[in-house]
Amino acid sequence: MEEAPLSDFPALMLDEEAGKVRASIRRLTESDLPAGDVTVRVEHSTLNYKDGLILNGLGRLVRTYPHVPGIDFAGTVERSDSAEYKPGDKVILTGWRVGETHWGGFSGKARVKADWLVPLPAGLTTRRAMAIGTAGFTAMLAVMALEEHGLAPSGDGEVLVTGAAGGLGSVAVALLSRLGYRVCASTGRASQHDYLRSLGAATIIDRAEIGSPPAKPLLSERWAGVVDSVGGATLANCVASLRMRSAVASCGNAGGVEFACTVLPFLLRGASILGIDSVMCPKPRRLDAWARLTELLPAEMLDSMTTEAGLADLPELGARILKGEIRGRLVVAPNR
Ligand code: NDP
Repeated sequence: MEEAPLSDFPALMLDEEAGKVRASIRRLTESDLPAGDVTVRVEHSTLNYKDGLILNGLGRLVRTYPHVPGIDFAGTVERSDSAEYKPGDKVILTGWRVGETHWGGFSGKARVKADWLVPLPAGLTTRRAMAIGTAGFTAMLAVMALEEHGLAPSGDGEVLVTGAAGGLGSVAVALLSRLGYRVCASTGRASQHDYLRSLGAATIIDRAEIGSPPAKPLLSERWAGVVDSVGGATLANCVASLRMRSAVASCGNAGGVEFACTVLPFLLRGASILGIDSVMCPKPRRLDAWARLTELLPAEMLDSMTTEAGLADLPELGARILKGEIRGRLVVAPNR
C-alpha cells in the first residue's frame, strides 16, 4: 500500500464519557481510518434515523469509541487495492454496519471493503444518490418485495405509506406514484400535505387514524399493500386492515416495537408481513435496486425532498430526526 498523504480532513467523532456520548469535529488523516481496501473521498452522506440513535448513544448500535458515525455515503475512490475499483471511480455505500461497527460517512474520507460498495449508476450525482441514501434504498427494497408478493399497479385499492413525510416514507411515496399506484400517505404533520401531494400522494390521512392497536382482530379490508416505517400499533393496525392476500413491507419502528395483533388476519385473509433489511442485502439485489431508483426518480423530485446540512449541524439534527421533525432526506457534505 502507498504512503497515506498527510493532508487532513474533518470528521464528526463520537466519544463516550461516563456513559454519555459526546460529539466533536476533529481533523483526521488517512492513517487514522480503519482497515479496508478502498479509500473514498466522501462527497455526500446523509442523516438517517439510525444515525439519530447513534448520535444520542441509544440502541447500543455502537460498542467501541471513539467512533465516526454515518451509515451511508457517496464519493470518489482515491486509492484502491481492489481490482474492482480504481481512483476516480464514483461509488455508493449503504449498509454492512458501516457507521455502527466500522467508521462511517460523517467524515471527509472513509475506508471500507470493496465488496460493500456499488458503482454510482450513470445519470445519478453523488448528491442525488444520497438524497436517496439508505432510507430511499430501503423504500425501493420494500416496493420490490411487495411486487414480488403480487402487488401490481393494475390492481385496485390504495397502497399506504406510513411515516410518509420522513426519509423512507418520502421516497416510498415518490416511487409508488411513479410506478402508477394510487398512494395514500399517512402523516402526523398537516404542514406537509402539499409536499406529499407534490411527491404523488393521491390521498392523505392523519396518522392518528391508523395509530391505535386494532379494536377488533379484523378491520375493514382497505390496503392493497403497505410500506411501513412506523411499526408498533400502526403496524398491527395495518395488518388488520389488509385486503385478501396482501402484505405489509415492514421497514422500521420509529413509533415502537410492540406488535399487538392476533393471528386472524394471517389465517382468514392470507395477510403477510415482509421484513425488509437493507443492511446485509446481497449485491445483485443492491445493483437492481439502484438501477430502478435511478430510472424511476426524476432529479427535480429528489431535489425537492432534500435539505443540506454540515457536520456541525448533525448533533442537533440527530435529536430532531428521533422526534420525527425532519422532512424528507437530509444530505451532508462533510468536506464543505
Ligand atoms: P424519519 O425520522 O425520517 O421518518 C420517520 C417518520 O415516522 C417521521 O417523519 C414521522 O412521519 C413518523 N413517526 C416518527 N415517530 C412516530 C411515532 N411515534 N408515531 C407515529 N409515527 C411516527 O426516519 P427514516 O425514514 O430514516 O427511518 C424510518 C424508520 O425506518 C426507522 O425506524 C429506521 O430505523 C427504519 N429504517 C430501516 C431500514 C431497514 O433496512 N429496514 C433502513 C432505513 C431505515 P410523519 O411526520 O409523516 O408522521
